[in-house]
Amino acid sequence: MEGDLTRTQQSLVDLKGRIHGKQEVECIRCGERFFVTIDEELFLKLSDGVYRGFDEEADVVEFYRGYIDLDELIASESESIKADYHICPKCKEGEKNGSS
Ligand SMILES: [Zn+2]
Repeated sequence: MEGDLTRTQQSLVDLKGRIHGKQEVECIRCGERFFVTIDEELFLKLSDGVYRGFDEEADVVEFYRGYIDLDELIASESESIKADYHICPKCKEGEKNGSS
């Protein structure tokens, strides 16, 4: 993951960046594990304490005691990628052949 941190307000930091790499995921059809290549833009607002605003364009992550745990951030991004629906190449191939 790479990116820039910009303090926009007293207790608010913007994280704009890019997350890329390989992530092991599980196929929702057959349960087989395979790797997907990730390359996506990341825009997070990091709020020191409870964030009271509302933001449509960015996900808000709250942190406490003035400390941002980037490892934890990356881990949670990685978890949310895993939680997405993924279909392995084999099952995709099967779909194309019209087995529905
Ligand atoms: Zn599959």
